[in-house]
Amino acid sequence: MVSVEQIRKALEGVMDPEIHRSIVELNMVREIKVKGKKVDVTIALTVATCPLQGSIADDVVKAVQALDPKLEVNVTLTEMTDEEKKALTEKLQGGKQRKNFPAAQLNKIKTVVAVMSGKGGVGKSTVAALLAAGLRRKGLRVGVLDADITGPSIPLLFGVHEPPAMGAVGIMPPVSRGGVKIMSINLLLRDEGQAVIWRGPLITSAIQQFWSDVFWGDLDVLVVDMPPGTSDAALTVMQNLPVSGIILVTSPQDLAEMVVSKAADMAKQMKTPIWGIVENMSYAICPHCGERIDIFGKGKTEALAAKFNTAFLGQLPIDPEISKLGDSGEIEAYLNTAFEPTVEMVAEKASKATTASPFKFRV
Ligand code: ADP
Repeated sequence: MVSVEQIRKALEGVMDPEIHRSIVELNMVREIKVKGKKVDVTIALTVATCPLQGSIADDVVKAVQALDPKLEVNVTLTEMTDEEKKALTEKLQGGKQRKNFPAAQLNKIKTVVAVMSGKGGVGKSTVAALLAAGLRRKGLRVGVLDADITGPSIPLLFGVHEPPAMGAVGIMPPVSRGGVKIMSINLLLRDEGQAVIWRGPLITSAIQQFWSDVFWGDLDVLVVDMPPGTSDAALTVMQNLPVSGIILVTSPQDLAEMVVSKAADMAKQMKTPIWGIVENMSYAICPHCGERIDIFGKGKTEALAAKFNTAFLGQLPIDPEISKLGDSGEIEAYLNTAFEPTVEMVAEKASKATTASPFKFRV
C-alpha cells in the first residue's frame, strides 16, 4: 500500500503549467487520503477560473499511478482561501511583504507589439484585435493589453465582460472565446460606459499594474492597444512597457506624412523600431459588382513607408462586417487575407525573439 508521504513526494514532480513550480511547493496539495487502492487528492487552485485545471488534475492522476498503476485516483479541485493566497503571494516574493503581486517575475512574454495611430477613430483598436486574433489562430499564445485608458474598446470587440479574478500570483486576465488573454481598465470598472478621465500619473500607474500585477503567464506576443495619437499619453505607455516593435495604423484621410514622421520621432527616442504601417479603411468593395472603389484616391502609404524605411503591411477595406462583428463582440470571427502579411510579420518576429525572461520596467 502506498503512503500519503509517498504520494506527496510523487506530486512534487507535478508542475503548475503556468507558474512553472511544483504544486507541492505552491502549497496547492491540500489533502491526500489513502484507503486501500483508493486515493483522494484535493488540490487548491490559485484561482478558481484557472484555465489549465484539467491538465493539473490529469498530471496528478498520472503521478500517483506511476507509483502503482492499479490505484484509483480521484482529484477534487477547489480554490485557495484568501489566507492561503496571501501566504503564497508572500512565499513567491521571498517572504517579503510587498505591495505588488509576484506576477511580474513569473510572466514570460517574448514579444510586445504596440499598435499606434495618429488620432482616434482610424481603427487602431480594431487592428490590434485582428492582429491578436490572427496570431492566436496560428497557435501562438497571445494577450492584449488595452492601454487606451480613456477609450478602452478591446473588451467590447472580444465580447469579454467578466471582471478579472484575483489569483495568488496576480490579477488573472479573462480569456476570449478564441483564447486571447485580455486586460483592460473597462473590465475593472463597474459601469463599462463610465468615462475615464485620467491624468498622466494615474495612467502610468494603471499601465504599470497591467504589466506587473497581471499574471499573463507565458505569452508569445502581447499586443498593446495604445492611446490614440503620438503625444503624451502614448509616450507614457511607451516609457513604461518594454515594447519590441510598433505597428502604425493610418487611414487615407489622415495627415499620414505627419503621423508617420511623429511616430518615427517617438520610435527613435524610445529606440524601438516601427515594424510597419497598416492602412485602414483604404477602399470599399461594391456589394453588387465586387469592384474595388478607391473612395479617397490611391493611398500614399506605400511610398511613405518606403520614405521612412519601414514596411508597408497592406490595406484593409472599409468593410461593414468589421464594424458588425466588432459591435457584437465577435471580432475574432473576422477573416481577411489582406491582413495576413501583418500577422505573418509579427509571428515571424515572435519566433525569432530569443529571450523569454521577464522584462523589467525601463523607469
Ligand atoms: P480607434 O481605436 O482608432 O479609435 P476603432 O478600432 O475603435 O478605432 O474603430 C472605430 C470605428 O470604426 C469602430 O466602430 C470600428 O468598428 C470601425 N472600423 C474600424 N475599421 C474599420 C473597417 N476597416 N471597416 C469598417 N469599419 C471599421
